Amino acid sequence: MPRRSSDLQRSVQYLKGVGPRRAEKLARLGVRTALDLLLHVPHRYEDATTVARIATLRPGDDATIIGRVVSKGVIPTRKRLRIFHAVLQDDSGLIECAWHGQPWLDNSIRKGDLILAAGTVGFYHGRQMRPREHTLLASAGDDDGGSGRVFPVYRATEGLSHRQIRAIVEANLDGLLDEVAEAEIFGRDWLRGLGLMRLPEALEKLHRPESLSQIAPATRRLAYEEIFFLQLLHARARYQYRSREAGQALDAHPELTLQMIDSLPYELTGAQKRVWAEIRADLEKPARMYRLLQGDVGCGKTVVAAAAMVRAVDCGRQAVLMAPTELLAEQHLRTLTGLLAPTDLEPALLTGSVTGARRAEVLEGARSGTAPIIVGTHALIQEGVTFENPGLVVIDEQHRFGVEQRRALRDAGGTADTLVMSATPIPRSLALAVYGDLDLSVIDEMPPGRRPVITGVRGPGDRPAAFDFLRAQLGAGRQAYVVYPLIDESDSVEAAAATRAIEDLSALFPEYQLDLLHGRMGTADKDSVMRRFLAGETQVLVATTVIEVGIDVPNATVMLIEHAERFGLAQLHQLRGRVGRGAEQSYCVAFYSGEGPPERLRSFAATTDGFEIAREDLRLRGQGNLFGAEQHGLPELRFADLERDSELLEHARDRARRMVEADPELRSPENRVFARVLQERYADHAALYAVG
Ligand code: ADP
Ligand code: MG
Repeated sequence: MPRRSSDLQRSVQYLKGVGPRRAEKLARLGVRTALDLLLHVPHRYEDATTVARIATLRPGDDATIIGRVVSKGVIPTRKRLRIFHAVLQDDSGLIECAWHGQPWLDNSIRKGDLILAAGTVGFYHGRQMRPREHTLLASAGDDDGGSGRVFPVYRATEGLSHRQIRAIVEANLDGLLDEVAEAEIFGRDWLRGLGLMRLPEALEKLHRPESLSQIAPATRRLAYEEIFFLQLLHARARYQYRSREAGQALDAHPELTLQMIDSLPYELTGAQKRVWAEIRADLEKPARMYRLLQGDVGCGKTVVAAAAMVRAVDCGRQAVLMAPTELLAEQHLRTLTGLLAPTDLEPALLTGSVTGARRAEVLEGARSGTAPIIVGTHALIQEGVTFENPGLVVIDEQHRFGVEQRRALRDAGGTADTLVMSATPIPRSLALAVYGDLDLSVIDEMPPGRRPVITGVRGPGDRPAAFDFLRAQLGAGRQAYVVYPLIDESDSVEAAAATRAIEDLSALFPEYQLDLLHGRMGTADKDSVMRRFLAGETQVLVATTVIEVGIDVPNATVMLIEHAERFGLAQLHQLRGRVGRGAEQSYCVAFYSGEGPPERLRSFAATTDGFEIAREDLRLRGQGNLFGAEQHGLPELRFADLERDSELLEHARDRARRMVEADPELRSPENRVFARVLQERYADHAALYAVG
């Protein structure tokens, strides 16, 4: 009888050298089962083959060494400072290490222990070091095979040292690896095709590497497994969404669509044509579309979405667009009204501000189908709003809607296709990980003739010059934003700081109208401030919170960002996107306070390409911050590196989708194991299935 993989799900408590008390401590490290212990791979390695040899050290070197303790003791000094010192020896020589004020080390470090120490080398009657860091690699009694070894260092917890964890792993590793061998999920050909090793081999290399070069390929194997299951979850969510109710093929003759596209005053860019073809193909297929349309601010997403909406109307269906705020909904309405003029279609607006007879009229149009295109806010998904036959639902800036709202809109849309728009570029690998259930369309090209926003990074000394520049722009009839970071968690402090800022600025620019936008204001107030700015009644908008993403004020040409070092790269780019929307050249000035500009600000000034910014953001902040697994209800990625493993992501997504399309319930003999692993390890993420 082959062992079932679920045996690896037994409590870690019953493994050799563990027991109930240690099991509790291991649980603090997230290690609860035998499998968890195997997956608790070292977080770093000390390589005895690459550390410095003691005899070669020179004064002033910053070095890492490994040596045996040949003598040790506590030396009392006159100043009552007690120094623990130990002489370490490797095969080349001796060094004396001194730990000031740490006499207790005498209890934990013994003669014969193998120690790794890092610090600056000094010289006084011989080599000396005051280690800033040290690790006990092996005790006197341990049989560790001597030099030439790579020492695994495990993440430890109070009361359970990394060496104790290593001893536990060592005591159980061979037996557990045998079990894993029988529980390998992926077939040999599958792994070979990707150049991946089998799981037991990977785990053995991670726990007992012979050289550091073995770590990366072994990690890749673990990365693939978690990536595959992430994509399997996405594939299931996608399948559920698409199959819940069969969609309809929107494939009638595209009369109005062609009218609209043909009368555009410009030609679509190559990228727009490409994504339009992707979207059109989806619309024309009977399966429901579930697609993300990504592209930097101003790349021309709206016109593509409009074409898709008209395509639905061509097929006798309605199209609905939901925006996160009233202002954005109104802006979409204006844009669509212009784009649709040649087709005689008139989009209707439904927001909280549409009331009385007009509201009744729009609701009736939605219900009866006489309103073919409806634009609005979450008012679209409130009680009492029904649509006759929606064929397409477009969600703008979807990350600003909660999961519930998105689901409500999709439900309201019945069998409608869904197009989600986002002006926040993210690298493809991150998009695959987070939005793997959607299909991706990316506009990565700007319409011709755009003048990139000129960006300057300025220090405290440059303020007068920057304000002179701002005055000149205002004098030429332009408008400007001045943005402050959130100064404090508390709203009142924020409001006070913003109020002070606007007083200072008003003194500098007495001849202009300034207005204030901050987080403490109600929606209606914010709205009217934005409207005055849009109408040109105010020239300078001082804002503490992020100004509406997507708001278009073509006459605003200056974005001045205070304390720019406190903003993230992506956020800075979003702010910069508020300008550069008209015919005039636009400028962004990022003021930093303190010494010099951080690397982030230099990257910011170096490019206006949102996707490049996004990749840099991922590199600087790390995927942990961006992936936000928990926030998306996704399993965390412990081994995968989104950049390094992007090929694995693509492969896993395709493979998982094919698996689910062919065998949705994963019932076939070769797929059953995947269903079981989903159940055993990913039960917490079952909610994902329902999101579709
Ligand atoms: P997004 O929604 O991606 O921010 P929009 O669709 O609002 O971008 O387009 C921004 C501006 O670019 C609009 O004024 C639009 O008319 C214009 N535009 C869109 N596509 C093109 C194109 N292919 N050539 C020239 N101008 C374009
Ligand atoms: Mg837009």
